Amino acid sequence: METFADGFGRRFRYLRISLTEVCNFRCVYCLPNGYQKVAGPALMTPLEIERLGRVFSQRGVAKFRLTGGEPTVRRDLGEIIGRLAALQGVNKVAMTTNGWNLARHIDEWAAAGLTNLNVSVDSLEPDLFHRITGHNRLNSVLAGVDRALDLALPSVKLNAVLQRDAVGGGFDRFADYVRSRPVAVRFIELMRTGDNAAFFEDQHVPGGDLQAWLTARGWTPRPRGADDGPAIEYSHPDHLGRLGLIAPYSPGFCDSCNRLRITASGKLRLCLFGDDGVDLRHLLDRDDAEPLEALIESALSIKPRGHRLAEGRSGDTRNLSQLGG
Ligand code: SAM
Ligand code: SF4
Repeated sequence: METFADGFGRRFRYLRISLTEVCNFRCVYCLPNGYQKVAGPALMTPLEIERLGRVFSQRGVAKFRLTGGEPTVRRDLGEIIGRLAALQGVNKVAMTTNGWNLARHIDEWAAAGLTNLNVSVDSLEPDLFHRITGHNRLNSVLAGVDRALDLALPSVKLNAVLQRDAVGGGFDRFADYVRSRPVAVRFIELMRTGDNAAFFEDQHVPGGDLQAWLTARGWTPRPRGADDGPAIEYSHPDHLGRLGLIAPYSPGFCDSCNRLRITASGKLRLCLFGDDGVDLRHLLDRDDAEPLEALIESALSIKPRGHRLAEGRSGDTRNLSQLGG
């Protein structure tokens, strides 16, 4: 069966599913005042997520990423991982987490079928980590990462948002961290959202600063795989792990877009920085793939060519906890 494609010939083999907008951290660029409860539609159930996942997997999606908000605040997370991992044709079930309860639960999630783990760690300095996230938990987050490495998960990565206050000696610390660990640390350029304009103006660091740092120290870029995200990863002969960059402001970033997003309440979101989304929820109460496929296809025909961040436009995205980045 044919892979979902859009009007620009881009094919979609990767789906990001948000499990909740709730988060227990207060990252300065995302939810500086913490998650504020708003009334809204109920979260998709594990069965609805499985139905959705089945339709996408039948159309060539082999990789799902669970995100949020903070996906690990859901008690049924293990069940959701298991249902997606059991779908035919699915070879990767990934998750992005802030790592607050990783050390306690990673064994259970790995047993359920989690293959790829991304943990957000913006700084390896405990005080700065505390200031950025609102939680003094760096050591326990890193203990969870080490446990995931012990379990030999196929992929363990860290995400670090590039921000002026953290770059100073930050690159050196992360380089030291990956010297003996098979971990990729990917720095993400800070993105402007509806809520963080002032922080963005003060803290945005262009990805080119990291690239210059890497090149000057002998790190070299590696080729990208077919279902990889937009990161450019660099390796170095003296380091087991890699350092990388995700640079959404670079020209052509959207040309190779291979991802779609589903909100926690079941809307198909065509672009991270677009508006609203197409509601799929009303078709998830039964096992009937056809109308769901038709709706997704018609939505994809209007997927925009790219975001308009360079013009300062973030769509209706107030912060990334709404959509999971
Ligand atoms: N709570 C989980 C976490 O932090 O890993 C998953 C959701 S979070 C929104 C997903 C990723 O988006 C995290 O790595 C986070 O650092 C990143 N992120 C959030 N807001 C961002 C922004 N304005 N610019 C760049 N990255 C951002
Ligand atoms: Fe929560 Fe992730 Fe946003 Fe931080 S980046 S506030 S952990 S959703």
